[in-house]
Amino acid sequence: MSEIRVRIAPSPSGYLHIGTARAALFNWLFARHHGGKFLLRIEDTDTQRSSDEMIEVILESLKWLGLDWDEEPVFQSRRLELYSRYVGGLLESGKAYRCWCAPDVLKEKQDEARQQKKNPKYDRHCFDLPESEKNRFLDSGQPAAIRIIMPEGVTAFHDIVVGEVSRDNSELDDFIIARSDGRAVYNLAVVVDDHEMGISHVIRGNDHISNTFKQIIIYRALGLEPPRFAHIPLILGKDRSKMSKRDGAAAVTDYGKLGYLKEAVVNFIALMGWSPGDNNEIMTADQMIEAFSLERINPSNAVFDPEKLTWMNGEYIRASDDNKLVDLVRPYLVEAGLTTHLWINSRWDWMLKFVRILKERCHLLTDFAEKGRFFFVDEFEYDPKGSAKYFRADVLPLIAAWIETLSSTGEYTASAIETGLRELAGKLEIKPATIIHPTRLALSGETAGPPLFDMMELLGREKCLKRLEEAVCVIEKE
Ligand code: GLU
Repeated sequence: MSEIRVRIAPSPSGYLHIGTARAALFNWLFARHHGGKFLLRIEDTDTQRSSDEMIEVILESLKWLGLDWDEEPVFQSRRLELYSRYVGGLLESGKAYRCWCAPDVLKEKQDEARQQKKNPKYDRHCFDLPESEKNRFLDSGQPAAIRIIMPEGVTAFHDIVVGEVSRDNSELDDFIIARSDGRAVYNLAVVVDDHEMGISHVIRGNDHISNTFKQIIIYRALGLEPPRFAHIPLILGKDRSKMSKRDGAAAVTDYGKLGYLKEAVVNFIALMGWSPGDNNEIMTADQMIEAFSLERINPSNAVFDPEKLTWMNGEYIRASDDNKLVDLVRPYLVEAGLTTHLWINSRWDWMLKFVRILKERCHLLTDFAEKGRFFFVDEFEYDPKGSAKYFRADVLPLIAAWIETLSSTGEYTASAIETGLRELAGKLEIKPATIIHPTRLALSGETAGPPLFDMMELLGREKCLKRLEEAVCVIEKE
């Protein structure tokens, strides 16, 4: 195979949507698998809808996902002259012609055709004008749109994902390739860029198939060989409706804010429509690169399943090295106002224990701030059902004895605390749970959470005693 060169070509009119992220990922995996190049092109000719801020967000999103691109990004807005040269070439070679038809006249004709249930194709009015008439328009300098001559026959291509695709050219008309203000249209720019960038494979959403026909017509008119195409299926929402590009939650950068690991997001996105062919779901980027092939992309639509993403994220959290996990979790704790980077830096071993005892229960990085809140703040509400059940007057003497035991335990470790509790329960002839439940509620405000004795060691003796005493006051008042 000659050099593999692929590209992702986002239009910066919205944030990096999950669909574009997946197209980027498939291109990247394909390039990396074959030792080829993954290029970036910003399709920013629509100045009304593009902005530097959006471009920045797209670049940041790709970087966040780890989809590093090769070579300098190409900006379409800087290549308008190049497109005009190609349009000029098509005019010269007689593959395209000028059209002076006024938009309102065109619209009238189209409306009429539709009323008669006919295809509202351009009627080649300007192509058929006598030479003298054309010269008159040219001399007058009246702006003209440029139309490509639609050849007769069929346009067909073999799509790597979809298979054979073909369309009768008679369904299409002499479409415009440059507007009367001189600007080339989208399909022309894409062809010129893909050719100039040496793109070997175009991997993009299958909503572009109708563009592909037009693009192939342009390639042929230019005497160029089209690249190979792989149109990937759309991503549907769980209700099988189309996922909207402007759907805020579907912007890739939001996932980081919501507490997802980028590795989990990449893994999840890769499996929307592609599978390595075994039952392996959790894969590193290297494993995906190794296993990736366009042939294994499923041509039917993929479904976006947020629960699967969250499950997968939990798997990544549990598989993370604890030091890495502290680094991942820290911004969320600071953001939640629970602690500071300085504090975390000076209590790294404590933080390691913190993530270790919580990670089994966390699916999102934000869960650490939520489920671990009571480690950092003394003010919290008691779960009302729990306090009705466990904060009863008859536990007061038990808690008092428990406070006594905890104050006198030598070292304050999980195992020493556990031994102390079991001995006390034996002495009082009660089940350990009779003390465990109110203790958990007193220390965390919750009725469930991480293993109690680990939690107590981590909180430290002083905090545990203080919170148990507070609970005593609360119970006494009731
Ligand atoms: N700019 C197009 C989009 O964002 C991509 C077109 C292409 O990949 O050819 O959908």
